[in-house]
Amino acid sequence: MINSLRGFRDLLPPESDLFTRIEAAAREVFGLYGYQELRIPALEKKELFVKSTGDTTDIVEKEMYAFTDGGGREVAMRPEGTPGVVRAYIEHNLGQTGRNGKYFYIGGMYRAERPQAGRYREFTQIGAEHIGNPSPAADAESISMLVRLLEKAGVEGCSVELNSLGCGECRKTYREILLAFLRARAEKLCEPCRGRIERNPLRALDCKIDGPWLSAEAPKLTLCPACAEHFDTTQKYLGTAGVAYKVNTSLVRGLDYYTRTVFEVRTTALGSQDAVAAGGRYDDLVKSMGGPQAPAIGWAMGVDRVAMLLKDKPAPDTAPKTFIVAASKEAGEKAFALLTALRSAGVSSDFSSFDLSLKSQMRSADKSGASFALIIGEDELKAGTCAIKSLKTRGDQQTVPLSDAPSTLKQLLKG
Ligand code: ATP
Ligand code: MG
Repeated sequence: MINSLRGFRDLLPPESDLFTRIEAAAREVFGLYGYQELRIPALEKKELFVKSTGDTTDIVEKEMYAFTDGGGREVAMRPEGTPGVVRAYIEHNLGQTGRNGKYFYIGGMYRAERPQAGRYREFTQIGAEHIGNPSPAADAESISMLVRLLEKAGVEGCSVELNSLGCGECRKTYREILLAFLRARAEKLCEPCRGRIERNPLRALDCKIDGPWLSAEAPKLTLCPACAEHFDTTQKYLGTAGVAYKVNTSLVRGLDYYTRTVFEVRTTALGSQDAVAAGGRYDDLVKSMGGPQAPAIGWAMGVDRVAMLLKDKPAPDTAPKTFIVAASKEAGEKAFALLTALRSAGVSSDFSSFDLSLKSQMRSADKSGASFALIIGEDELKAGTCAIKSLKTRGDQQTVPLSDAPSTLKQLLKG
């Protein structure tokens, strides 16, 4: 037999139900905040990610599924959603034609990392991007929307960590200071960091190996007055929205395009894969990708990790409410009409095979988790009725005309 690839998995019920619930909660919350859905391709030109996510990031340097397709094009499976959203924003001139620059996406992302619990090669992200608004209120709105979404989905015990990386100007000065610091410690750095500090010294602070001690010892970034004010006001608005957060000056994030606000939502419940969602402001990305000057803020949430957090919570019952059983081919025809009528009336219903014995069909009815079995035997067929048998309280049974079955069931299920 052929198995699935490592790091790629089948989502089976009831886990798949969890994904559906999280996505439904997200859609509801996005509606409250005026976001519209964008469905972007899973495969893009490789160049898109190299230019936006950044060629010195782990995502692009080590984790990307990039290949040359049959037509000789350099392509890549999307490792994250923001580059595709920004490309679509520019390509379709959404700054002019769109409603408010607020977009969300839901979909699979692909990264060739070492699979472990909470870390897969194909995983689902729900992401939100707000393009065209430079205000700190947009930062606070985006973060508070994420917190609301997690609450709505039923996640507890998360904390928000917040930092500001400043603008290009703040970073220019800091780059030199940090580079001098890193050069003096080059022999202590891991191989990849040594290779990339000259090209992107900030990257070292996010390194999984050297990041922790470097963040503790390295000189800290000083924000310019405008960036300091933006950061202050963002925090004021977060306070107004009732969002609890902690400033963490070591938070740098593993993507290149961030400016000013960055944040991460963490949990203590998932061990080392503790990041549930992350994001930040990217004021220069749209322009650098060939679009208009359009400051933006966004985030992405890992649905697989959120699902892990919800695993032990009671799941809503998705079993069909009724199960139809028929004694013969002729009864089967009536039964099929009944199935249709029940579903039209909004009563969920299922069946196995009307060609099987009554006993075997009743076994399937029990296994289905349905509350009621509707049985059309020979007597019922003659009388134009069906027997309704409770599968939860043994022995309860009544017979009703077939045409009354949907309304009777609706009543019974209410009680
Ligand atoms: P990590 O530090 O855990 O590798 P990241 O910084 O690479 O996370 P982002 O690129 O910011 O993650 O993606 C946002 C969210 O997507 C993460 O917070 C996480 O919940 C989820 N995520 C990222 N990579 C994976 C993965 N390989 N498998 C499952 N979820 C993931
Ligand atoms: Mg990662």
